Amino acid sequence: MHRRLIAPGALAAASLMLAIPASAASFSPGAPGIGDPYYPDYGNGGYDVSHYDLRLKYQPATDELEGTATLLARTTQDLSRFDLDFLLDVSEVRVNGAKASFTTSGEHELEITPKSPLAKGTSVTVVVRYSGVPSSKQAYGFTSWHRTPDGGVGANEPEAAWWWFPSNDHPLDKATYDVSVLVPDGSQAISNGTLQSTSSRLGWTRWNWRSDKPQATYLATLAVGRFDLTTGTTDGGIPVVNAYSKDLGANAGAARASVERTGEIADWLSGYFGPYPFDALGGYVPNTTTGYALETQTRPFYSPRQFANGSNTSVVVHELAHQWYGDLVSVRGWKDIWINEGFARYAQWLWSEHEDEGTAQELADYVYASHPADDTFWTVRPGDPGPENQFDIAVYDRGALALQALRNEIGDEAFFAVLKGWPQKHAYGNASVADFQRYAEEVSGQPLAGLFDTWLFQPSKPGAPAARGAAIARGAQAPARPKSWKGIAATNDVHAG
Ligand SMILES: [Zn+2]
Repeated sequence: MHRRLIAPGALAAASLMLAIPASAASFSPGAPGIGDPYYPDYGNGGYDVSHYDLRLKYQPATDELEGTATLLARTTQDLSRFDLDFLLDVSEVRVNGAKASFTTSGEHELEITPKSPLAKGTSVTVVVRYSGVPSSKQAYGFTSWHRTPDGGVGANEPEAAWWWFPSNDHPLDKATYDVSVLVPDGSQAISNGTLQSTSSRLGWTRWNWRSDKPQATYLATLAVGRFDLTTGTTDGGIPVVNAYSKDLGANAGAARASVERTGEIADWLSGYFGPYPFDALGGYVPNTTTGYALETQTRPFYSPRQFANGSNTSVVVHELAHQWYGDLVSVRGWKDIWINEGFARYAQWLWSEHEDEGTAQELADYVYASHPADDTFWTVRPGDPGPENQFDIAVYDRGALALQALRNEIGDEAFFAVLKGWPQKHAYGNASVADFQRYAEEVSGQPLAGLFDTWLFQPSKPGAPAARGAAIARGAQAPARPKSWKGIAATNDVHAG
């Protein structure tokens, strides 16, 4: 969502090594980044988090957030210190019960030095006490915290956690979550997973949410405001909780007419992608002024603007498709964004076909034909677009076109076997574009390097012979614009906040 380049952070000073005793010489600081070339400072090195317990209190009137985060982690190297990614004000850090010293560095690093160095392969409990006004904090000149008239919302990609909890902020480090938020009576706190309970006392209500399947940090969300909640159960038996700001105005009806179809759409998607992978489902629409939506795990975030022209089931299809492609199987590095967006867009094309508004083939033909060879659209390589083009429209439309080319190459049987098999193969983990190519080759028994190179990696429009070979835009005339085109294009705000 943020088109910017980030300079690599300075490496930890080697001189620090000289200051620690010889017996601890093998203990060194964890890296300030997890090793993603697109975002060198995102995530951290030296440990892996398994669980976040966030016990928070939020005051909607002032946007003040305070609380305690307890992280359960395991070290992956001998650590003299380590970083978390965080922006709010920290008052105390404890590591394995003992007070640790801490400082901040870079754009969003919280550097923690435990009293005793931490040996590789051991369990570590980190407790961070903090407070702050999320909307007052920026990193790289932007904020992912949306202040609303009745509260605030944390939802963005590739980063949102820094504004509300300390974390190892990269999809490679997934964890389970308990999120417990105290808000004034009359306000609601919405997060991921199942609503375990609520309890009220002295004018404040505590909302306890649980996500017991691994979840990437950017897919964790928190929204506090005045919401109407609806509940239900899918045909597959998954409990649904949706939440709508009481203040959606004229968009309220269209928002509900779309998001209330979440269970139906998830069941429909499971026909293509396999069983729904989580034990909770829903969506929420706060009264933000943003334009995008986001696949926050089990409970996508939708901005009211997605419903300004009436109901929009296509955006619901997009965000729910991500529950398999993006959430269940997450990117290994942010360069693998096609694994998320190409497939979520292709799901919209399948929905268009289902709704009789144009087939996936017709939409692919239209994408191919409507961008001339000199259009910069073709200079974006969906298979490795660069951080500045991570959410470019080409990642979506050219990305989905590549899937239609694959489908035509290997046939429907193999293609739909790949679509359904992939989420199972890498369930609750991470995978890359190269992993996907290998898997498609394995299932189809065909070599596909040339096809992937042409449709995902060349910075130019695939030529007429390649298109003919992949059965794209074969007709003599320019393909007509499918009926669903405009609606799908309107969801392009999905990541253009
Ligand atoms: Zn998306």
